[in-house]
Amino acid sequence: MKVVLIGVGQAGGKVTQALAEFDYDMGFNAVRGALAVNSARADLQNLDIDTTLIGQDRVKGHGVGGDNELGAQIMQESATEVLDNMDGRITTEAEAVVVVAGLGGGTGSGGAPMLVRELQRIYEMPVYTLGILPGDDEGGLYQANAGRSLKTAIRESDSVLLVDNDAWRGSGDSVAEGYKRINDAIAQRIGLLLASGEAVEGVGESVVDSSEIINTLRSGGISAVGYASAEASEDAEENVNTITSVTRNALLTSMSLPNATDAESALLVIAGDPERLSRKGVERARRWVEDETGSMRVRGGDFPLGSDKIAALVLTSGIERSDRVNEFMEKAKLAAKSQGQDSDPDEFTNDDLDNLM
Ligand code: GDP
Repeated sequence: MKVVLIGVGQAGGKVTQALAEFDYDMGFNAVRGALAVNSARADLQNLDIDTTLIGQDRVKGHGVGGDNELGAQIMQESATEVLDNMDGRITTEAEAVVVVAGLGGGTGSGGAPMLVRELQRIYEMPVYTLGILPGDDEGGLYQANAGRSLKTAIRESDSVLLVDNDAWRGSGDSVAEGYKRINDAIAQRIGLLLASGEAVEGVGESVVDSSEIINTLRSGGISAVGYASAEASEDAEENVNTITSVTRNALLTSMSLPNATDAESALLVIAGDPERLSRKGVERARRWVEDETGSMRVRGGDFPLGSDKIAALVLTSGIERSDRVNEFMEKAKLAAKSQGQDSDPDEFTNDDLDNLM
């Protein structure tokens, strides 16, 4: 799927850059544009992709701290400028736009949903949010901000692909090491998902294309991605169990949002050397995903890649009624109360923004 990425805020910019680099290094060419937008000049200076500094008249390049309402307001005022910077690429090359942000901060938390809204007004193509949920041990302000941002992002986006910061962290990692590891994992997994719709080698009926990703995400709400791989035999017939076991590992142990297997729809992509892929294994794994997610809308397909491993990439969509999301929303609500915000993590509304101006 050909996409343009727009990272908002610090995490948004770093993850966007990691995705663009992965796509470039692998030669996939699914990422057709990458822009980082921030109200903090220092965060943009560390990036190699195109950047746009917003809100200079309000915060003079110093960022908004954790004030996501200010983040939302600045984006509202700057959206036209941001869109002007991306316009050529979005109209000619992209099948979707992905706005990337950490939901717990300020600029990305407030700004990303506002930017999505502006993009939806202008473009016919789907606009997705790739949102990063704060880890469990991050403070109340992060949780409260993320609750509000997530609600708004769900309302405005065609789908919110969520990555829980606790999902792919290593156990002994420092915060910085943790971010690096998580960002690399996001780049690889989401990068492969985007590229899977672009595969041209060995084109056949079973190869995934962009429309299958878009149709899977059509359930709206929240989506997540998981990935696992294993060494494969040269003989396809011997790989039936490998394909089912990597699929189980992807869905049960490696999703970007853990404990959220019930889904409205899903996509299973099996990546590997076409000579090694067993049709029987792929179909069996796809049926297993149907049982496990409780969805009858599980698409399946191949991603031909020159590798002696086989990998499973699972995209689940419509998972917002999961325990993990309910728990998070409860936590965000309590955090909002103790932060002196409204007791319910309300969405950003036009009224809020009008009150600020
Ligand atoms: P902003 O610049 O105001 O939008 O704020 P941040 O992007 O720093 O958002 C803070 C949230 O993003 C917190 O939940 C952090 O844990 C998370 N975060 C910050 N940097 C990174 C990063 O590089 N990777 C990941 N995965 N999360 C990050």
